[in-house]
Order: sequence, then structure tokens, then C-alpha cells
Amino acid sequence: MTTHTLPITPQELTERLNFFEEECRRRGLRVTEQRREIFKTVAASCAHPSAEDVYAQVREKLANVSLDTVYRTLTSLEQMELLLRVGTAGKERFDGDLRPHAHFICSQCGEVYDVFYDKKYMMLPLREAFSCGEVRAISLQYKGTCKKCAESTAQSFDS
Ligand SMILES: [Zn+2]
Ligand SMILES: [Zn+2]
Repeated sequence: MTTHTLPITPQELTERLNFFEEECRRRGLRVTEQRREIFKTVAASCAHPSAEDVYAQVREKLANVSLDTVYRTLTSLEQMELLLRVGTAGKERFDGDLRPHAHFICSQCGEVYDVFYDKKYMMLPLREAFSCGEVRAISLQYKGTCKKCAESTAQSFDS
């Protein structure tokens, strides 16, 4: 099991963008520059950006975009199963990495950590899930206090 985020290769990013364009076409949605830029920002990131993070980045390229548009686009991309929404209400983050993995979410700082499993362990519950139907994405969240927050809390108790 690895809890560090696996970086995205340029090839993977191209594949994700191709998949995004295919899905838009299949659903009769226009691949607008805005929609593409918003998707790309999330897909290229390993940091599980929030809507505000995405907005800040997209705005550098497309000055007219609004936070509301970014949020609505992220929501529709999630409904199309092109992105995953992770985190808790008020601290929502988005993930363009659709490879099967779980998340550890810190309830103090909201940080989202990727948890990649060895396929052979993933297969155990997955086999059960496949008996219900085709599995396209997995959403598994662990909640707790991350090491960084636990350390800073311990330090503030010391002083
Ligand atoms: Zn934390
Ligand atoms: Zn993730």
C-alpha cells in the first residue's frame, strides 16, 4: 500500500483529455475551451484541488470565467463520471485520477491523501461489487487526523 500520490505522466494526461473529449462528444456536449481547461486543471493535478483552487488556475488563462461557472462545470463533470468529488461538505475537493484508489481525509485541515492498494487486496471487496454490476469507479474514504495536524496539536500541548 502506498499513501503517497503517484505522479501523472504526460501520456496519462493526454489519455484523460482524449477520454474527456470522447465522453463530451458521446453526450452531445460541446468541448468548449472553458470546459476543457477546467477538466485539464483537475486531471493534471495530484493535489485534489478545491473549486477555488481550480478557479484561481483557470482564471490565469481565461479571465472571464467565474467561480460559479467553475463550480457548475465541476459538478457536471462529476455527474459524467469524469471526476470524483472527495472530502466533506464545505471542504470539497476534486480528483481527476480515476485509477482505483482510496482517500484519507483529515478532518482538521481537509488535506486529501491518496491511498493506492495492491491489486490483490483491492480484488477482495471488488469481486463482491462486480456481482452487483460493472464497476467504473471506486469511492472509499477514511477520515481522521493527519500526521501533520496530530504533530502540531501535540506541540501546542507541550508549550
Ligand atoms: Zn491535517
Ligand atoms: Zn485521489
